[in-house]
Amino acid sequence: AKAQGRAKYHVFNPAMHQEAIQLLELENDLRRAVERQEFLVYYQPIVSLITGKISGFEALVRWQHPTRGLVSPTEFIPVAEETGLINAINTWVLQSACHQLSIWQHQPVTPEPLTISVNLSARLFLQPNFVEQIDRIIYETKINPTYLELEITESVIMENTNAIKIIFQQLKQRSIKLVMDDFGTGYSSLSYLHSFPLNALKIDKSFVKRMQDNKENMGLVPAMIGIANSMGMSAIAEGVETEEQLAQLRSLNCNFAQGFLFSEPIEQQLVIKLLAVAPQW
Ligand code: C2E
Ligand code: CA
Ligand code: CA
Ligand code: CA
Repeated sequence: AKAQGRAKYHVFNPAMHQEAIQLLELENDLRRAVERQEFLVYYQPIVSLITGKISGFEALVRWQHPTRGLVSPTEFIPVAEETGLINAINTWVLQSACHQLSIWQHQPVTPEPLTISVNLSARLFLQPNFVEQIDRIIYETKINPTYLELEITESVIMENTNAIKIIFQQLKQRSIKLVMDDFGTGYSSLSYLHSFPLNALKIDKSFVKRMQDNKENMGLVPAMIGIANSMGMSAIAEGVETEEQLAQLRSLNCNFAQGFLFSEPIEQQLVIKLLAVAPQW
């Protein structure tokens, strides 16, 4: 009992107490941020390795904090997930991205229609009325949903296979595209992968990075591209930072690439400018 008492006491050491306070502050701040809509959507281009042109953009949320400036989603998404605030935030991102897509569709800025990809939290995706919400957004923004892509992480798909299959079918009926995000970081089983109507696998940047470190065999990236293509899906490489990586990915028949080599995520106002100056990669 004494040992237990000591172990318990350990939990409340001053450093951790400080951490708990900071977390509470973050939670309260985040709640206010949702009410005041302190969020922004940034857009990062996705480049077709066949045409060398920008084929679409991934929507990435930022928090415009009144005193801290731009806060990264890696900092607040986990807290938002824990508190359930993620649903309000992610719905807002989805709405904003569809609004942007609608503008592009009604006043085209490129010869080929642009796509928009939105990251979806498991919590939002698995809400009973998720497909209804999507329908409402499609109706309100008047988008052609063929060019809307939803990115869902591997772990979500593998943990909720039956629920996910039903939702995927409904989204597929609406011509919405489905992307498995962070491919390779979780534990997807290849036999399962086959039974989902996925359009693309997004190879996580950690694998693209290791391709460089491991020049002999390029790590797992060739295998991942092979899996995607043999199953009739596109492969999208994330975190492409060098010309060398780009050349390697191209030689491996990777379909799309995204990363700082092309552009960092940018604010919405800069998208048109980027499209105007973007070279053919
Ligand atoms: P993700 O979906 O894996 O997004 C890719 C992340 O890699 C983004 O970070 C992007 O800015 C960053 N990145 C892009 N190119 C490069 C590169 O060349 N090098 C490096 N080192 N990094 C690059 P970001 O914007 O900080 O987003 C982090 C994560 O937050 C995302 O990872 C995604 O899981 C989550 N997230 C972002 N926006 C949303 C959202 O609206 N909803 C949900 N549920 N999650 C979101
Ligand atoms: Ca993503
Ligand atoms: Ca992700
Ligand atoms: Ca990733």
